Amino acid sequence: MTIIKKNIIDIRQKIEHAALQVERNTKEIQLLAVSKKKSIIQIKEAYLAGQRLFGENYVQESIQKIQSIKNDCTFNDPICWHFIGPLQSNKTRLVAENFDWVQSIDRLKIAQRLSSQRPARLAPLNICLQINISAETSKSGITLAQIMLLASQVSKLENIKLRGIMAIPEKTPDTVHLSKQFKILHDIYLKLQSIYPDIDTLSMGMSADMKLAISCGSTMVRIGTDIFGSRN
Ligand SMILES: *Cc1c(COP(=O)(O)O)cnc(C)c1O
Repeated sequence: MTIIKKNIIDIRQKIEHAALQVERNTKEIQLLAVSKKKSIIQIKEAYLAGQRLFGENYVQESIQKIQSIKNDCTFNDPICWHFIGPLQSNKTRLVAENFDWVQSIDRLKIAQRLSSQRPARLAPLNICLQINISAETSKSGITLAQIMLLASQVSKLENIKLRGIMAIPEKTPDTVHLSKQFKILHDIYLKLQSIYPDIDTLSMGMSADMKLAISCGSTMVRIGTDIFGSRN
Protein backbone atom coordinates (compact mmCIF):
# COMPACT_ATOMS: atom_id res chain seq x y z
CA MET A 1 0.00 0.00 0.00
CA THR A 2 1.29 3.49 -0.82
CA ILE A 3 1.78 6.03 1.98
CA ILE A 4 -0.86 8.26 0.41
CA LYS A 5 -3.41 5.46 0.43
CA LYS A 6 -2.59 4.64 4.04
CA ASN A 7 -2.94 8.33 4.97
CA ILE A 8 -6.35 8.54 3.32
CA ILE A 9 -7.59 5.45 5.12
CA ASP A 10 -6.30 6.92 8.43
CA ILE A 11 -7.98 10.26 7.81
CA ARG A 12 -11.28 8.66 6.88
CA GLN A 13 -11.12 6.76 10.16
CA LYS A 14 -10.32 9.96 12.07
CA ILE A 15 -13.26 11.71 10.42
CA GLU A 16 -15.53 8.85 11.37
CA HIS A 17 -14.28 8.86 14.94
CA ALA A 18 -14.60 12.64 15.30
CA ALA A 19 -18.14 12.50 13.91
CA LEU A 20 -19.16 9.65 16.22
CA GLN A 21 -17.92 11.52 19.27
CA VAL A 22 -20.38 14.32 18.62
CA GLU A 23 -23.10 12.00 17.31
CA ARG A 24 -22.87 13.21 13.75
CA ASN A 25 -23.29 11.06 10.67
CA THR A 26 -19.93 10.56 8.91
CA LYS A 27 -21.67 10.89 5.57
CA GLU A 28 -22.28 14.57 6.33
CA ILE A 29 -18.53 15.21 6.19
CA GLN A 30 -16.66 15.28 2.90
CA LEU A 31 -12.93 14.99 2.52
CA LEU A 32 -11.28 17.40 0.09
CA ALA A 33 -7.71 16.34 -0.74
CA VAL A 34 -5.63 19.49 -1.19
CA SER A 35 -3.15 18.64 -3.92
CA LYS A 36 -1.45 22.01 -4.49
CA LYS A 37 2.24 21.57 -5.37
CA LYS A 38 1.71 17.82 -5.65
CA SER A 39 2.23 15.80 -8.82
CA ILE A 40 -0.22 13.92 -10.99
CA ILE A 41 1.41 10.69 -9.75
CA GLN A 42 0.53 11.64 -6.18
CA ILE A 43 -3.00 12.65 -7.19
CA LYS A 44 -3.29 9.26 -8.91
CA GLU A 45 -2.37 7.45 -5.70
CA ALA A 46 -5.10 9.32 -3.85
CA TYR A 47 -7.54 8.61 -6.68
CA LEU A 48 -6.73 4.88 -6.47
CA ALA A 49 -7.55 5.06 -2.77
CA GLY A 50 -11.05 6.20 -3.77
CA GLN A 51 -10.52 9.94 -3.41
CA ARG A 52 -12.56 12.01 -5.90
CA LEU A 53 -12.61 15.54 -4.43
CA PHE A 54 -9.45 17.58 -4.94
CA GLY A 55 -8.57 21.15 -4.03
CA GLU A 56 -6.06 23.38 -5.83
CA ASN A 57 -4.73 26.87 -5.09
CA TYR A 58 -2.77 28.10 -8.09
CA VAL A 59 -4.44 28.67 -11.45
CA GLN A 60 -1.58 27.87 -13.85
CA GLU A 61 -0.43 24.78 -12.00
CA SER A 62 -3.91 23.40 -11.50
CA ILE A 63 -5.12 23.87 -15.09
CA GLN A 64 -2.13 21.90 -16.36
CA LYS A 65 -2.88 19.06 -13.99
CA ILE A 66 -6.64 19.07 -14.65
CA GLN A 67 -6.10 19.00 -18.42
CA SER A 68 -3.60 16.12 -18.35
CA ILE A 69 -5.80 14.13 -16.01
CA LYS A 70 -8.78 14.72 -18.29
CA ASN A 71 -6.81 13.23 -21.19
CA ASP A 72 -5.55 10.30 -19.13
CA CYS A 73 -7.89 7.35 -19.52
CA THR A 74 -6.60 5.67 -16.37
CA PHE A 75 -8.65 8.21 -14.44
CA ASN A 76 -12.01 6.93 -15.61
CA ASP A 77 -14.27 8.32 -12.87
CA PRO A 78 -14.84 12.06 -12.90
CA ILE A 79 -12.92 14.11 -10.35
CA CYS A 80 -14.56 17.06 -8.65
CA TRP A 81 -12.14 20.00 -8.68
CA HIS A 82 -12.35 22.75 -6.06
CA PHE A 83 -10.46 26.00 -6.47
CA ILE A 84 -9.51 27.18 -2.96
CA GLY A 85 -6.81 29.82 -3.48
CA PRO A 86 -6.93 33.58 -4.04
CA LEU A 87 -8.35 34.40 -7.47
CA GLN A 88 -7.53 37.48 -9.56
CA SER A 89 -9.97 38.73 -12.15
CA ASN A 90 -7.62 38.11 -15.10
CA LYS A 91 -7.62 34.38 -14.29
CA THR A 92 -11.33 33.78 -13.76
CA ARG A 93 -11.94 32.40 -17.25
CA LEU A 94 -9.62 29.42 -16.82
CA VAL A 95 -11.21 28.65 -13.48
CA ALA A 96 -14.77 29.00 -14.84
CA GLU A 97 -13.90 26.57 -17.64
CA ASN A 98 -12.07 23.94 -15.62
CA PHE A 99 -13.32 23.78 -12.05
CA ASP A 100 -16.53 22.48 -10.46
CA TRP A 101 -16.30 24.62 -7.34
CA VAL A 102 -14.67 27.88 -6.22
CA GLN A 103 -14.50 28.18 -2.43
CA SER A 104 -12.61 31.46 -2.23
CA ILE A 105 -15.16 34.05 -3.37
CA ASP A 106 -14.74 37.33 -1.54
CA ARG A 107 -15.81 39.89 -4.15
CA LEU A 108 -18.92 40.29 -6.27
CA LYS A 109 -16.81 41.16 -9.31
CA ILE A 110 -15.07 37.78 -9.30
CA ALA A 111 -18.38 35.93 -8.96
CA GLN A 112 -19.89 37.98 -11.81
CA ARG A 113 -16.98 37.15 -14.09
CA LEU A 114 -17.14 33.46 -13.22
CA SER A 115 -20.86 33.44 -13.92
CA SER A 116 -20.55 35.10 -17.32
CA GLN A 117 -17.52 32.98 -18.30
CA ARG A 118 -19.00 29.65 -17.22
CA PRO A 119 -19.47 27.57 -20.41
CA ALA A 120 -23.12 26.76 -21.16
CA ARG A 121 -22.38 23.04 -21.57
CA LEU A 122 -21.31 22.83 -17.91
CA ALA A 123 -23.47 22.76 -14.80
CA PRO A 124 -23.52 25.98 -12.76
CA LEU A 125 -20.30 26.66 -10.88
CA ASN A 126 -20.65 25.88 -7.18
CA ILE A 127 -19.28 28.58 -4.94
CA CYS A 128 -18.56 29.26 -1.29
CA LEU A 129 -18.00 32.68 0.23
CA GLN A 130 -14.66 32.88 1.99
CA ILE A 131 -14.92 34.46 5.42
CA ASN A 132 -11.98 36.08 7.15
CA ILE A 133 -13.06 34.89 10.58
CA SER A 134 -9.95 35.93 12.47
CA ALA A 135 -9.95 39.33 10.71
CA GLU A 136 -6.27 38.95 9.85
CA THR A 137 -5.27 41.61 7.36
CA SER A 138 -2.98 39.15 5.59
CA LYS A 139 -5.82 36.81 4.71
CA SER A 140 -8.42 37.14 2.02
CA GLY A 141 -12.09 36.78 2.77
CA ILE A 142 -14.98 39.00 3.72
CA THR A 143 -15.85 40.22 7.20
CA LEU A 144 -18.89 38.99 9.10
CA ALA A 145 -20.65 42.29 8.34
CA GLN A 146 -20.34 41.78 4.57
CA ILE A 147 -21.72 38.25 4.32
CA MET A 148 -25.46 38.78 3.93
CA LEU A 149 -25.11 41.39 1.20
CA LEU A 150 -22.60 39.40 -0.84
CA ALA A 151 -24.69 36.23 -0.44
CA SER A 152 -27.77 37.97 -1.78
CA GLN A 153 -25.83 39.42 -4.72
CA VAL A 154 -24.11 36.19 -5.80
CA SER A 155 -27.25 34.12 -5.29
CA LYS A 156 -28.84 36.07 -8.16
CA LEU A 157 -26.10 35.21 -10.68
CA GLU A 158 -27.18 32.89 -13.41
CA ASN A 159 -24.41 30.32 -13.75
CA ILE A 160 -23.44 30.23 -10.11
CA LYS A 161 -24.83 28.15 -7.29
CA LEU A 162 -24.16 29.40 -3.78
CA ARG A 163 -23.33 26.28 -1.74
CA GLY A 164 -21.88 27.62 1.48
CA ILE A 165 -18.96 29.24 3.24
CA MET A 166 -15.26 28.55 3.67
CA ALA A 167 -12.78 29.85 6.22
CA ILE A 168 -9.14 29.49 7.19
CA PRO A 169 -8.86 30.54 10.84
CA GLU A 170 -5.49 31.78 12.09
CA LYS A 171 -3.04 29.14 13.26
CA THR A 172 -3.27 29.02 17.03
CA PRO A 173 -2.77 26.43 19.76
CA ASP A 174 -5.68 28.08 21.62
CA THR A 175 -8.45 25.55 20.95
CA VAL A 176 -11.00 27.50 22.98
CA HIS A 177 -10.51 30.53 20.77
CA LEU A 178 -10.50 28.40 17.64
CA SER A 179 -13.69 26.57 18.55
CA LYS A 180 -15.39 29.94 19.18
CA GLN A 181 -14.52 30.92 15.63
CA PHE A 182 -15.73 27.60 14.23
CA LYS A 183 -19.00 28.04 16.12
CA ILE A 184 -19.52 31.53 14.73
CA LEU A 185 -19.02 30.07 11.24
CA HIS A 186 -21.51 27.31 11.99
CA ASP A 187 -24.10 29.89 13.10
CA ILE A 188 -23.62 31.89 9.89
CA TYR A 189 -23.92 28.69 7.90
CA LEU A 190 -27.27 27.84 9.51
CA LYS A 191 -28.52 31.38 9.02
CA LEU A 192 -27.62 31.34 5.31
CA GLN A 193 -29.12 27.89 4.92
CA SER A 194 -32.46 29.16 6.23
CA ILE A 195 -32.48 31.74 3.41
CA TYR A 196 -30.81 29.85 0.54
CA PRO A 197 -31.95 26.22 0.34
CA ASP A 198 -29.03 25.09 -1.88
CA ILE A 199 -26.57 25.76 0.92
CA ASP A 200 -25.11 22.52 2.26
CA THR A 201 -21.41 23.21 2.70
CA LEU A 202 -19.48 24.48 5.70
CA SER A 203 -15.88 24.14 4.56
CA MET A 204 -13.62 24.37 7.60
CA GLY A 205 -10.88 22.25 9.14
CA MET A 206 -7.40 21.48 7.81
CA SER A 207 -4.74 18.96 8.86
CA ALA A 208 -4.08 20.67 12.19
CA ASP A 209 -7.65 21.34 13.32
CA MET A 210 -9.81 18.76 11.54
CA LYS A 211 -11.23 17.11 14.63
CA LEU A 212 -12.26 20.38 16.28
CA ALA A 213 -13.83 21.62 13.05
CA ILE A 214 -15.91 18.45 12.78
CA SER A 215 -17.08 18.79 16.36
CA CYS A 216 -18.22 22.34 15.50
CA GLY A 217 -20.25 21.26 12.47
CA SER A 218 -17.88 21.21 9.47
CA THR A 219 -19.29 19.44 6.41
CA MET A 220 -16.04 19.53 4.42
CA VAL A 221 -12.49 19.25 5.68
CA ARG A 222 -9.63 20.33 3.43
CA ILE A 223 -6.59 18.17 4.02
CA GLY A 224 -3.21 18.55 2.31
CA THR A 225 -0.27 17.75 4.57
CA ASP A 226 -1.80 14.74 6.31
CA ILE A 227 -2.50 13.11 2.94
CA PHE A 228 0.44 14.09 0.74
CA GLY A 229 3.10 15.08 3.27
CA SER A 230 4.54 18.53 3.82
CA ARG A 231 5.03 21.03 1.01
CA ASN A 232 8.25 22.96 0.48
C1 LIG B 1 -3.23 24.47 1.64
C2 LIG B 1 -4.62 24.61 2.06
C3 LIG B 1 -5.26 23.60 2.82
C4 LIG B 1 -4.56 22.35 3.31
O1 LIG B 1 -3.74 22.63 4.40
P1 LIG B 1 -2.97 21.48 5.20
O2 LIG B 1 -2.57 22.16 6.47
O3 LIG B 1 -1.81 21.08 4.36
O4 LIG B 1 -3.91 20.35 5.45
C5 LIG B 1 -6.59 23.78 3.14
N1 LIG B 1 -7.28 24.87 2.74
C6 LIG B 1 -6.71 25.85 2.02
C7 LIG B 1 -7.52 27.03 1.60
C8 LIG B 1 -5.37 25.75 1.67
O5 LIG B 1 -4.81 26.76 0.96
